Amino acid sequence: MSKLANIDWDNLGFSYIKTDFRYVSTWKDGKWDNGQLVTDNKLSISEASTALHYGQQCFEGLKAYRTKNGDIQLFRPYENAKRINLGAQRLLMPEIPEDKFVEAVLQVVRANEAYVPPYGSGATLYIRPLLIGVGDNIGVGPAPEYLFSVFCIPVGPYFKGGMTPVNFIVSDFDRAAPYGTGAAKVGGNYAASLYSYHLAKKSGFGDCIYLDPLTHTRIEEVGSANFFGITWDDEFITPKSPSILPSITKYSLLYLAEEYLGLKVAERDVLIDNLNEFKEAGACGTAAVITPIGGIQYKDKFHVFHSETEVGPNTTKLYNTLCGIQFGDLEEPAGWIVRV
Ligand SMILES: *Cc1c(COP(=O)(O)O)cnc(C)c1O
Repeated sequence: MSKLANIDWDNLGFSYIKTDFRYVSTWKDGKWDNGQLVTDNKLSISEASTALHYGQQCFEGLKAYRTKNGDIQLFRPYENAKRINLGAQRLLMPEIPEDKFVEAVLQVVRANEAYVPPYGSGATLYIRPLLIGVGDNIGVGPAPEYLFSVFCIPVGPYFKGGMTPVNFIVSDFDRAAPYGTGAAKVGGNYAASLYSYHLAKKSGFGDCIYLDPLTHTRIEEVGSANFFGITWDDEFITPKSPSILPSITKYSLLYLAEEYLGLKVAERDVLIDNLNEFKEAGACGTAAVITPIGGIQYKDKFHVFHSETEVGPNTTKLYNTLCGIQFGDLEEPAGWIVRV
Protein backbone atom coordinates (compact mmCIF):
# COMPACT_ATOMS: atom_id res chain seq x y z
CA MET A 1 0.00 0.00 0.00
CA SER A 2 1.27 3.45 -0.89
CA LYS A 3 1.86 6.15 1.69
CA LEU A 4 -1.30 7.85 2.92
CA ALA A 5 -1.79 11.61 2.97
CA ASN A 6 -1.62 13.31 6.37
CA ILE A 7 -5.36 13.54 7.05
CA ASP A 8 -7.52 12.91 10.15
CA TRP A 9 -9.46 10.09 8.46
CA ASP A 10 -11.84 9.53 11.39
CA ASN A 11 -13.15 13.08 11.38
CA LEU A 12 -13.73 13.75 7.71
CA GLY A 13 -16.96 15.45 6.70
CA PHE A 14 -18.25 16.12 3.23
CA SER A 15 -16.22 19.14 2.28
CA TYR A 16 -13.92 20.09 -0.53
CA ILE A 17 -10.19 19.75 -0.23
CA LYS A 18 -7.80 20.00 -3.12
CA THR A 19 -6.21 16.67 -3.99
CA ASP A 20 -3.17 16.38 -6.24
CA PHE A 21 -4.52 15.49 -9.69
CA ARG A 22 -7.66 15.89 -11.74
CA TYR A 23 -8.55 14.82 -15.26
CA VAL A 24 -9.62 17.19 -18.02
CA SER A 25 -10.69 16.38 -21.55
CA THR A 26 -12.04 18.80 -24.18
CA TRP A 27 -14.61 18.24 -26.92
CA LYS A 28 -14.09 20.45 -29.94
CA ASP A 29 -14.83 20.18 -33.66
CA GLY A 30 -16.92 17.09 -33.12
CA LYS A 31 -14.53 15.00 -31.08
CA TRP A 32 -12.98 14.41 -27.67
CA ASP A 33 -9.24 14.84 -27.17
CA ASN A 34 -7.34 12.17 -25.22
CA GLY A 35 -7.64 13.99 -21.92
CA GLN A 36 -4.88 14.46 -19.37
CA LEU A 37 -4.15 14.69 -15.67
CA VAL A 38 -3.46 18.20 -14.42
CA THR A 39 -2.58 19.63 -11.00
CA ASP A 40 -4.37 23.00 -11.24
CA ASN A 41 -7.85 22.96 -9.66
CA LYS A 42 -9.03 26.06 -11.55
CA LEU A 43 -10.85 25.92 -14.87
CA SER A 44 -10.41 28.79 -17.26
CA ILE A 45 -13.53 29.15 -19.43
CA SER A 46 -15.26 31.77 -21.54
CA GLU A 47 -17.60 34.16 -19.74
CA ALA A 48 -20.16 33.20 -22.41
CA SER A 49 -20.12 29.48 -21.51
CA THR A 50 -23.59 27.87 -21.61
CA ALA A 51 -22.82 26.11 -18.31
CA LEU A 52 -22.76 29.53 -16.61
CA HIS A 53 -25.87 31.03 -18.20
CA TYR A 54 -28.18 28.27 -19.33
CA GLY A 55 -27.28 25.44 -16.98
CA GLN A 56 -25.92 23.21 -19.72
CA GLN A 57 -24.04 20.87 -17.45
CA CYS A 58 -24.40 17.55 -15.65
CA PHE A 59 -22.36 15.63 -13.14
CA GLU A 60 -21.84 12.30 -11.43
CA GLY A 61 -20.84 11.02 -8.01
CA LEU A 62 -19.19 7.71 -7.20
CA LYS A 63 -16.70 6.41 -4.68
CA ALA A 64 -13.45 4.44 -4.45
CA TYR A 65 -13.20 2.06 -1.49
CA ARG A 66 -10.11 0.70 0.29
CA THR A 67 -10.40 -3.01 1.04
CA LYS A 68 -9.02 -4.91 4.04
CA ASN A 69 -5.86 -5.91 2.16
CA GLY A 70 -5.22 -2.31 1.03
CA ASP A 71 -6.49 -2.64 -2.54
CA ILE A 72 -8.78 0.01 -4.03
CA GLN A 73 -12.03 -0.65 -5.88
CA LEU A 74 -14.91 1.13 -7.59
CA PHE A 75 -18.60 0.27 -7.27
CA ARG A 76 -20.48 -0.05 -10.61
CA PRO A 77 -18.72 2.84 -12.43
CA TYR A 78 -20.18 1.82 -15.82
CA GLU A 79 -23.62 2.69 -14.42
CA ASN A 80 -22.37 6.24 -13.77
CA ALA A 81 -20.97 6.32 -17.32
CA LYS A 82 -24.38 5.34 -18.72
CA ARG A 83 -26.19 7.88 -16.56
CA ILE A 84 -23.97 10.86 -17.42
CA ASN A 85 -24.72 10.09 -21.07
CA LEU A 86 -28.47 10.16 -20.42
CA GLY A 87 -27.93 13.65 -18.98
CA ALA A 88 -25.78 14.55 -21.98
CA GLN A 89 -28.54 13.47 -24.39
CA ARG A 90 -31.19 15.38 -22.44
CA LEU A 91 -29.17 18.63 -22.48
CA LEU A 92 -27.80 18.22 -26.01
CA MET A 93 -24.21 17.64 -24.97
CA PRO A 94 -21.78 15.16 -26.57
CA GLU A 95 -21.71 11.70 -24.99
CA ILE A 96 -18.59 10.39 -23.32
CA PRO A 97 -17.60 6.88 -24.44
CA GLU A 98 -18.14 4.61 -21.40
CA ASP A 99 -14.56 3.32 -21.46
CA LYS A 100 -13.22 6.87 -21.61
CA PHE A 101 -15.35 7.77 -18.57
CA VAL A 102 -14.21 4.78 -16.49
CA GLU A 103 -10.59 5.18 -17.63
CA ALA A 104 -10.65 8.84 -16.51
CA VAL A 105 -11.97 7.81 -13.09
CA LEU A 106 -9.29 5.12 -12.78
CA GLN A 107 -6.55 7.60 -13.72
CA VAL A 108 -7.72 10.11 -11.11
CA VAL A 109 -7.98 7.50 -8.34
CA ARG A 110 -4.55 6.03 -9.13
CA ALA A 111 -2.94 9.46 -9.25
CA ASN A 112 -4.52 10.37 -5.88
CA GLU A 113 -4.02 6.98 -4.22
CA ALA A 114 -2.66 8.59 -1.05
CA TYR A 115 -6.09 10.17 -0.49
CA VAL A 116 -8.05 6.91 -0.51
CA PRO A 117 -8.93 6.53 3.19
CA PRO A 118 -7.77 3.42 5.06
CA TYR A 119 -10.07 0.43 5.45
CA GLY A 120 -12.01 0.59 8.70
CA SER A 121 -12.25 4.38 8.89
CA GLY A 122 -15.63 4.30 7.12
CA ALA A 123 -14.32 7.10 4.93
CA THR A 124 -14.04 6.84 1.14
CA LEU A 125 -12.73 8.73 -1.85
CA TYR A 126 -15.62 10.61 -3.46
CA ILE A 127 -15.22 11.09 -7.20
CA ARG A 128 -16.97 13.93 -9.00
CA PRO A 129 -17.06 13.80 -12.82
CA LEU A 130 -18.63 16.79 -14.57
CA LEU A 131 -19.56 17.67 -18.12
CA ILE A 132 -20.05 21.37 -18.95
CA GLY A 133 -20.77 23.46 -22.02
CA VAL A 134 -18.03 26.05 -22.60
CA GLY A 135 -16.86 28.49 -25.27
CA ASP A 136 -18.15 31.75 -26.75
CA ASN A 137 -21.91 31.47 -27.16
CA ILE A 138 -24.47 33.99 -26.00
CA GLY A 139 -27.60 32.89 -27.88
CA VAL A 140 -29.64 30.12 -26.31
CA GLY A 141 -28.31 26.96 -27.90
CA PRO A 142 -25.83 24.20 -27.26
CA ALA A 143 -22.21 25.18 -26.62
CA PRO A 144 -19.48 24.96 -29.28
CA GLU A 145 -17.14 23.15 -26.87
CA TYR A 146 -17.39 20.93 -23.81
CA LEU A 147 -15.20 20.04 -20.85
CA PHE A 148 -15.27 16.68 -19.15
CA SER A 149 -13.46 16.87 -15.85
CA VAL A 150 -13.02 14.47 -12.92
CA PHE A 151 -11.78 15.34 -9.45
CA CYS A 152 -11.85 13.53 -6.13
CA ILE A 153 -11.93 14.27 -2.40
CA PRO A 154 -11.74 12.04 0.67
CA VAL A 155 -15.06 12.10 2.55
CA GLY A 156 -16.64 10.80 5.72
CA PRO A 157 -20.36 9.98 5.91
CA TYR A 158 -22.63 12.57 4.21
CA PHE A 159 -25.13 12.88 7.05
CA LYS A 160 -23.34 13.56 10.32
CA GLY A 161 -23.78 10.74 12.83
CA GLY A 162 -23.54 7.98 10.19
CA MET A 163 -26.07 5.19 10.74
CA THR A 164 -28.38 7.05 13.08
CA PRO A 165 -31.89 8.00 12.00
CA VAL A 166 -32.46 11.45 10.50
CA ASN A 167 -35.75 13.36 10.42
CA PHE A 168 -37.09 14.96 7.24
CA ILE A 169 -39.78 17.50 6.37
CA VAL A 170 -41.93 17.50 3.23
CA SER A 171 -41.16 20.51 1.05
CA ASP A 172 -43.86 22.76 -0.42
CA PHE A 173 -41.59 23.29 -3.43
CA ASP A 174 -40.71 20.99 -6.32
CA ARG A 175 -37.24 20.07 -7.51
CA ALA A 176 -38.25 19.04 -11.04
CA ALA A 177 -41.27 19.08 -13.36
CA PRO A 178 -43.03 15.83 -14.41
CA TYR A 179 -41.35 15.72 -17.82
CA GLY A 180 -38.52 18.08 -16.92
CA THR A 181 -35.00 17.08 -16.00
CA GLY A 182 -35.66 15.27 -12.70
CA ALA A 183 -34.19 12.03 -14.03
CA ALA A 184 -30.99 13.71 -15.20
CA LYS A 185 -28.19 14.55 -12.77
CA VAL A 186 -28.08 18.21 -13.74
CA GLY A 187 -27.11 21.22 -11.66
CA GLY A 188 -30.42 22.96 -12.39
CA ASN A 189 -32.29 20.46 -10.22
CA TYR A 190 -29.93 21.28 -7.39
CA ALA A 191 -30.22 25.04 -7.85
CA ALA A 192 -33.99 24.54 -7.54
CA SER A 193 -33.51 22.53 -4.34
CA LEU A 194 -31.22 24.88 -2.40
CA TYR A 195 -34.02 27.00 -0.97
CA SER A 196 -36.07 23.98 0.20
CA TYR A 197 -32.95 22.54 1.79
CA HIS A 198 -32.30 25.83 3.56
CA LEU A 199 -35.86 25.90 4.93
CA ALA A 200 -35.66 22.26 6.08
CA LYS A 201 -32.36 22.92 7.88
CA LYS A 202 -33.73 26.08 9.47
CA SER A 203 -36.62 24.04 10.92
CA GLY A 204 -34.20 21.51 12.38
CA PHE A 205 -34.53 18.70 9.81
CA GLY A 206 -31.77 16.84 8.00
CA ASP A 207 -33.20 17.64 4.57
CA CYS A 208 -36.57 17.71 2.82
CA ILE A 209 -38.77 15.21 1.02
CA TYR A 210 -40.00 16.09 -2.46
CA LEU A 211 -43.44 14.96 -3.57
CA ASP A 212 -44.43 14.33 -7.18
CA PRO A 213 -44.79 17.78 -8.77
CA LEU A 214 -48.13 17.08 -10.45
CA THR A 215 -50.31 15.92 -7.54
CA HIS A 216 -48.15 16.40 -4.44
CA THR A 217 -49.37 13.06 -3.08
CA ARG A 218 -46.45 10.68 -3.80
CA ILE A 219 -42.92 10.65 -2.41
CA GLU A 220 -40.22 11.20 -5.03
CA GLU A 221 -36.89 12.04 -3.42
CA VAL A 222 -35.32 12.52 -0.01
CA GLY A 223 -33.08 15.54 -0.53
CA SER A 224 -30.43 14.28 -2.94
CA ALA A 225 -31.16 10.62 -2.25
CA ASN A 226 -33.88 8.12 -3.21
CA PHE A 227 -36.53 6.82 -0.80
CA PHE A 228 -37.16 3.23 0.25
CA GLY A 229 -39.51 1.67 2.78
CA ILE A 230 -39.94 -1.81 4.28
CA THR A 231 -43.58 -2.82 4.61
CA TRP A 232 -45.00 -4.79 7.54
CA ASP A 233 -44.91 -7.93 5.41
CA ASP A 234 -41.23 -7.45 4.57
CA GLU A 235 -41.43 -5.94 1.13
CA PHE A 236 -38.75 -3.50 -0.03
CA ILE A 237 -40.60 -0.64 -1.76
CA THR A 238 -39.17 2.32 -3.65
CA PRO A 239 -41.10 4.98 -5.63
CA LYS A 240 -41.36 4.93 -9.41
CA SER A 241 -41.63 8.17 -11.39
CA PRO A 242 -40.05 9.73 -14.48
CA SER A 243 -38.88 12.71 -12.41
CA ILE A 244 -36.89 10.67 -9.86
CA LEU A 245 -33.14 10.51 -10.34
CA PRO A 246 -32.42 6.81 -11.03
CA SER A 247 -30.10 6.06 -8.10
CA ILE A 248 -27.52 3.35 -8.70
CA THR A 249 -27.56 2.64 -4.96
CA LYS A 250 -31.35 2.20 -5.11
CA TYR A 251 -31.17 -0.29 -7.99
CA SER A 252 -28.38 -2.11 -6.16
CA LEU A 253 -30.55 -2.33 -3.02
CA LEU A 254 -33.51 -3.62 -5.04
CA TYR A 255 -31.27 -6.48 -6.17
CA LEU A 256 -29.63 -7.10 -2.78
CA ALA A 257 -32.95 -6.99 -0.90
CA GLU A 258 -34.29 -9.73 -3.13
CA GLU A 259 -31.19 -11.88 -3.70
CA TYR A 260 -29.27 -11.50 -0.44
CA LEU A 261 -32.02 -10.75 2.10
CA GLY A 262 -34.90 -12.70 0.57
CA LEU A 263 -37.33 -9.76 0.66
CA LYS A 264 -40.01 -9.16 -1.93
CA VAL A 265 -39.30 -5.96 -3.85
CA ALA A 266 -41.32 -3.48 -5.90
CA GLU A 267 -41.03 -0.06 -7.53
CA ARG A 268 -44.41 1.63 -7.17
CA ASP A 269 -46.19 4.70 -5.82
CA VAL A 270 -45.51 5.65 -2.21
CA LEU A 271 -48.30 7.87 -0.89
CA ILE A 272 -47.40 10.53 1.64
CA ASP A 273 -50.79 9.86 3.28
CA ASN A 274 -50.00 6.16 3.74
CA LEU A 275 -46.69 6.09 5.60
CA ASN A 276 -48.26 3.64 8.06
CA GLU A 277 -47.64 0.85 5.55
CA PHE A 278 -43.90 0.96 6.39
CA LYS A 279 -42.18 -0.28 9.51
CA GLU A 280 -38.81 1.07 8.36
CA ALA A 281 -37.76 3.72 5.85
CA GLY A 282 -34.51 5.11 4.55
CA ALA A 283 -32.74 7.34 2.05
CA CYS A 284 -30.12 5.89 -0.28
CA GLY A 285 -27.45 7.26 -2.59
CA THR A 286 -23.70 7.22 -3.10
CA ALA A 287 -23.12 10.11 -0.73
CA ALA A 288 -25.88 9.21 1.77
CA VAL A 289 -25.13 5.44 1.51
CA ILE A 290 -28.16 4.32 3.53
CA THR A 291 -29.55 6.89 5.92
CA PRO A 292 -32.36 5.59 8.12
CA ILE A 293 -35.36 7.91 8.26
CA GLY A 294 -36.46 8.50 11.84
CA GLY A 295 -39.60 10.45 11.03
CA ILE A 296 -41.25 12.62 8.38
CA GLN A 297 -42.98 15.93 9.08
CA TYR A 298 -45.90 16.45 6.70
CA LYS A 299 -48.17 19.45 7.29
CA ASP A 300 -48.90 19.35 11.03
CA LYS A 301 -48.21 15.62 11.51
CA PHE A 302 -44.92 13.95 12.42
CA HIS A 303 -44.81 10.28 11.42
CA VAL A 304 -42.18 8.10 13.11
CA PHE A 305 -41.14 4.83 11.44
CA HIS A 306 -39.03 2.30 13.37
CA SER A 307 -37.58 4.78 15.87
CA GLU A 308 -36.05 8.23 16.02
CA THR A 309 -32.96 6.87 17.70
CA GLU A 310 -32.51 3.25 16.64
CA VAL A 311 -31.98 1.66 13.24
CA GLY A 312 -34.37 -1.09 12.12
CA PRO A 313 -33.15 -4.65 11.43
CA ASN A 314 -33.84 -4.64 7.67
CA THR A 315 -32.16 -1.27 7.19
CA THR A 316 -29.16 -2.55 9.17
CA LYS A 317 -28.93 -5.71 7.05
CA LEU A 318 -29.18 -3.74 3.81
CA TYR A 319 -26.47 -1.37 5.01
CA ASN A 320 -24.14 -4.19 6.05
CA THR A 321 -24.66 -6.04 2.77
CA LEU A 322 -24.12 -2.97 0.58
CA CYS A 323 -21.06 -1.77 2.51
CA GLY A 324 -19.72 -5.34 2.73
CA ILE A 325 -19.69 -5.50 -1.07
CA GLN A 326 -18.36 -1.97 -1.55
CA PHE A 327 -15.44 -2.51 0.85
CA GLY A 328 -14.70 -5.98 -0.52
CA ASP A 329 -15.75 -8.05 2.53
CA LEU A 330 -18.65 -9.78 0.75
CA GLU A 331 -18.69 -11.38 -2.66
CA GLU A 332 -20.34 -9.08 -5.19
CA PRO A 333 -22.83 -9.84 -7.95
CA ALA A 334 -20.93 -10.34 -11.23
CA GLY A 335 -19.59 -7.11 -12.72
CA TRP A 336 -20.32 -4.80 -9.79
CA ILE A 337 -16.74 -4.16 -8.72
CA VAL A 338 -13.94 -2.66 -10.83
CA ARG A 339 -10.52 -3.02 -9.25
CA VAL A 340 -8.25 0.01 -9.42
C1 LIG B 1 -27.13 11.37 -7.34
C2 LIG B 1 -28.51 11.42 -6.82
C3 LIG B 1 -29.09 10.33 -6.14
C4 LIG B 1 -28.33 9.09 -5.78
O1 LIG B 1 -27.87 8.34 -6.88
P1 LIG B 1 -26.71 7.28 -6.67
O2 LIG B 1 -26.45 6.77 -8.04
O3 LIG B 1 -27.23 6.22 -5.77
O4 LIG B 1 -25.58 8.00 -6.07
C5 LIG B 1 -30.42 10.45 -5.74
N1 LIG B 1 -31.14 11.56 -5.96
C6 LIG B 1 -30.61 12.63 -6.61
C7 LIG B 1 -31.46 13.82 -6.83
C8 LIG B 1 -29.28 12.59 -7.06
O5 LIG B 1 -28.76 13.65 -7.68
